[in-house]
Amino acid sequence: MPQDKTITTEKILQFESMIDQAETISILMHANPDGDTMGSALGLYNTLIKTGKTIHVISTNHFADFYRFLPGTNKIRVFDADNTDIKARMQSSDLVFCMDFNASHRTGKLEKILNAFEGPKILIDHHLFPDESFFDLLFSEPGKSSTSELLFEILIQSKYKDLIDQDIATDIFVGIITDTGSFSHSCNDPATFETSAKLIRYGLNVKEINDKVYNNSSEERLRLLGFAISEKLVTFPEYKAAYFSLTKEELDRFKNRPGFTEGVVNYGLAIKGVDFSALLTEKDELVKISFRSKANLNVNRFARDHFDGGGHVNAAGGRSHLSLSETLVKLERLLPLLQTEYYD
Ligand code: 5GP
Ligand code: MN
Repeated sequence: MPQDKTITTEKILQFESMIDQAETISILMHANPDGDTMGSALGLYNTLIKTGKTIHVISTNHFADFYRFLPGTNKIRVFDADNTDIKARMQSSDLVFCMDFNASHRTGKLEKILNAFEGPKILIDHHLFPDESFFDLLFSEPGKSSTSELLFEILIQSKYKDLIDQDIATDIFVGIITDTGSFSHSCNDPATFETSAKLIRYGLNVKEINDKVYNNSSEERLRLLGFAISEKLVTFPEYKAAYFSLTKEELDRFKNRPGFTEGVVNYGLAIKGVDFSALLTEKDELVKISFRSKANLNVNRFARDHFDGGGHVNAAGGRSHLSLSETLVKLERLLPLLQTEYYD
């Protein structure tokens, strides 16, 4: 029988007892970490480290410079940088947390190590369609703005409630603001604002946090955004669609770094009448695609059906193993289907 995926008293007790029984715990983020996977993983790290246990917080690859200020980032072990060590740490863990992803392939190069881990695994996540059989305990709530909001609700109902401090509140708050575009989407539930108010009471300076996340770009990053908008945006008014594409050469020219293209895709939706926006970035072995949509246009389904991806109704990701130009041809051929098949 499928597990109840929401928060219940029984599950909070199970969460506590699984932590009690573990001496060493690994907390994993999804690959190409965003603010929510980082905020939730670090919020949990900073809580559990106070229990005196050994806690590893692990990222597959490097994170964006503008997340460096998050409390706990100096403890993150990056797999790309520190291969063998991380494998050993994962293998010797008694418990693994998966934060903000619900299928092991979302950890990229860590997938094999995660699949080989035989101990218990706890999921805390808000994406659709979790891989239920993979986890021993699931907190999976697609209705939540962010995994960070969900984590806070779990923590305040648990015996760890009194461990929450300003650092933990900062991590969690950043997860919420980045996944909601500073309360502009996925946050129509008053609970998101109530949780945010509780977090601010830990002494957060909201303006300072926003400045650190959003007004802290390198000049190159801002120029790349300008270049993408003025030179690389293609629109299809008949399909209410727009996309941007960036080649490796273009990314190199603007000294691309982790997180540089975060947010670019949203600008497609800023155009009147556009319901679908995509950003295609050329990587060494594949083309990474981000999808965003308005209203009831379901890009989760579109990404699943055509680009080996998924996510949420209005924000999803995917990939293509064709060349960038072939991928653009494929995408353009699919655009007419948006109107006929992807409005729920
Ligand atoms: P992004 O465009 O920022 O990479 O991803 C948008 C949203 O979709 C994020 O919540 C991200 O976690 C999710 N996402 C991205 N790629 C995938 C994927 O391949 N599978 C699934 N299930 N979710 C994804
Ligand atoms: Mn998230």
